[in-house]
Amino acid sequence: MPEKVLVTREIPEAGLRVLEDFDVTVLHERPPERDELLDAVRGVSGVLSTATESMDGEVMDAAGEGLRVIANMAVGYDNVDVEAAGERGVVVTNTPGVLDETTADVAFMLLLASARRLGEGERLLRAGRWEWWGPKQLMGRDVWGKRLGIVGFGRIGQAVARRARGFGMEVIYHNRSRKEEAELELGASYMDLDDLLRAADFVSIHTPLTPETTHLIGADELDNMKPEAVLVNTSRGPVVDEAALANALAERRIFAAGLDVYENEPEVHQKLLELENVVLAPHIGSASIETRDKMATLAAENLAAVLRGESPKTPVNE
Ligand code: NAP
Repeated sequence: MPEKVLVTREIPEAGLRVLEDFDVTVLHERPPERDELLDAVRGVSGVLSTATESMDGEVMDAAGEGLRVIANMAVGYDNVDVEAAGERGVVVTNTPGVLDETTADVAFMLLLASARRLGEGERLLRAGRWEWWGPKQLMGRDVWGKRLGIVGFGRIGQAVARRARGFGMEVIYHNRSRKEEAELELGASYMDLDDLLRAADFVSIHTPLTPETTHLIGADELDNMKPEAVLVNTSRGPVVDEAALANALAERRIFAAGLDVYENEPEVHQKLLELENVVLAPHIGSASIETRDKMATLAAENLAAVLRGESPKTPVNE
């Protein structure tokens, strides 16, 4: 009898093909309700989850003692209780490395769009309110030649730095550990977070969500930024205090922001929805056809490896 596997959302075919030897149940396109998830995991050996499902001890216990692997189709795994998994002998895996460039593209897209007021301009045009080319119309901030501060200088942060070099930007970074090799390769200088916030024209956030990074950017940090600065967040919503950001944008204490992630997805702070100087994307950082294929394939390969008694390519716990 093939082992039972639950895939919590519809994923690209490439991933499902890897799981052909298993008895696979795929839920649906939308995220499952909690009760539905608890019911669907019963008796499975592996779960291929996404960032929208909270994979905690209760879900693992509902699966039962046969559960051996949770393969998260995301590099971030803040939705998985890794400690609870370890206590139950469950392997957790993620999908690092295959989405770096795609997510860096979205960070840079948001950086350009918010600096150059693309959202505002498109809303004006689509509403039929664009009457003429104007010498003072929709003046934004230059990106080229400015100073970019990257917070979280890992795979994606460094991919953003490579793009910034092409725009002639100076790159400064903050990270919990120094990245000396990357400093040399990318010509980036290390700074404390407060110094970086004071010095940067653009700040792009690329840390994981952990207890230490929750509200890493709050009211005080926003106050440290230049009034002409732009904040970009493609990491996880709770890394930025959304209410504090909405206030800073409304009071023009910073120039603009570009966001891909939110504190309570899919809800977005009402004040942000009403502001012109913020570009809002619906968590599409890794959403390219090529990259979602790779993420689904890697997650499925990790899951299959554990069930076959092999080592997964990208484990989170040992
Ligand atoms: P990564 O390679 O692990 O890089 C994260 C970096 O953050 C590491 O260099 C790490 O430092 C640093 N860091 C961790 N805690 C920190 C702290 N408290 N203060 C300062 N720096 C800290 O991860 P990645 O692959 O670049 O991904 C980063 C995050 O992006 C993911 O965790 C995920 O949440 C998010 N993401 C979002 C999307 C999207 O769709 N918007 C897509 C992909 C990823 P060390 O080297 O010292 O550990």
